[in-house]
Amino acid sequence: MSVNLTKPQMMLHQMVTDFADKKVKPFDMQIDKDRDYPKELWEGIVNTGFLGLTVPEEFGGAEFDAIASSQTVYDLAVRNASIAFTLEGHYKTVDQVIKYATPALKEKYLPQANHRIFGFSSTEPQGGSNIMGNTANAVKEGEKWILNGNKTMITNGGLAEVYCVLLKTSPNELSCFLVDEDMPGFKHGKREEFIGMNGTPVGEIFLENVVVTEDHLLGKLGQGVEIGDQAHYDARILMGAIAAGIAEHALTIAVDYAKQREAIDTPIIQLHSIQTKITEIAIAKENAQLLYQEAAKLKVEGKPYAKVATMAKSYGSRASVIAADHALQVLGGYGYSREYPVEHLIRDSRALQIAEGSLEKMMIEITKEVVKEREE
Ligand SMILES: Cc1cc2nc3c(=O)[nH]c(=O)nc-3n(C[C@H](O)[C@H](O)[C@H](O)COP(=O)(O)OP(=O)(O)OC[C@H]3O[C@@H](n4cnc5c(N)ncnc54)[C@H](O)[C@@H]3O)c2cc1C
Repeated sequence: MSVNLTKPQMMLHQMVTDFADKKVKPFDMQIDKDRDYPKELWEGIVNTGFLGLTVPEEFGGAEFDAIASSQTVYDLAVRNASIAFTLEGHYKTVDQVIKYATPALKEKYLPQANHRIFGFSSTEPQGGSNIMGNTANAVKEGEKWILNGNKTMITNGGLAEVYCVLLKTSPNELSCFLVDEDMPGFKHGKREEFIGMNGTPVGEIFLENVVVTEDHLLGKLGQGVEIGDQAHYDARILMGAIAAGIAEHALTIAVDYAKQREAIDTPIIQLHSIQTKITEIAIAKENAQLLYQEAAKLKVEGKPYAKVATMAKSYGSRASVIAADHALQVLGGYGYSREYPVEHLIRDSRALQIAEGSLEKMMIEITKEVVKEREE
């Protein structure tokens, strides 16, 4: 661990690992198969205060920082990546409400973030990478905004009740609005048939003449791209933590299996080729962890963290797929079987190369930062 946890963070870490061992770990494969969380697990997530982890104390939350939230997401991802992904979608959205909402909107919605799931919505059916090509829009009428459009692929879409949505407010301008599923004209659409992260619904919403007051605008008019970027950077720290968690999960499965599986009268862990794979998984996990922890530390210290957060997700998203693939190979035929928990780690980790900015887009961003640093 590259960060030193404070005493409250240590206590949180202990509580999360106890919870995850009892309520998450036993259901890892069931969550993947059922495409849902067991009722008891979900009630535990809500009742134990996971949703309010980052909500400021004045709004009833626990006000933990990015070091604690990423540690929590990691601790859960080691047992099941999907539940960690659900919280990632919630935390990064709550972060933007904390940063950009008016005092009145915070007063109304942040207490609700302790028990209602939030989601961040940018992608539309015609494209996710090119957000200026979006068509969903907000039009001002007197003191109100009228919102219209179709948004897709929202992490927690359907499960979330509150959404931060990027909408066109003029042809070259995006702004961010907070909408509630209870508003007339708001409808949930279909859930995506994704191959992994199966506990987390990823779905669409429809806005049909949804009317909101001025204070549902987050930040300033036209600040949508900045808020979307900010949501990505906050999310990428957590995505890095999920990637490291998946790699750790793969490592545990591979080591446990290799110690008991025999070939030529010796456990396969004695074989050089197996040791190579276990070493690669361990290095992948360690590197992924160092990167997201460094990004979280920079965020907590109030330093720029966008580049390292993007590196954490960029590296972690590839490292976790490779780690899961090595683990599959260690388990041989059983690794390829749905009866063992390795194959879903590959499907889960693959999502991390697309959600919160595709690998290709992140590489462009990192290169831009690296070039800029050398010109300064
Ligand atoms: C599990 C999951 C969860 C998601 N959660 C959310 C969410 O919570 N909220 C949300 O708004 N969206 C979410 N998304 C959508 C995600 O953000 C988009 O899938 C992503 O931005 C890519 O957009 P796209 O799928 O439309 O692909 P496209 O934008 O059509 O891209 C297709 C391919 O072209 C590449 N490409 C596109 N433009 C460029 C470029 N300029 N330079 C280089 N390569 C490029 C992409 O990298 C990709 O490989 C989620 C997606 C997944 C899989």
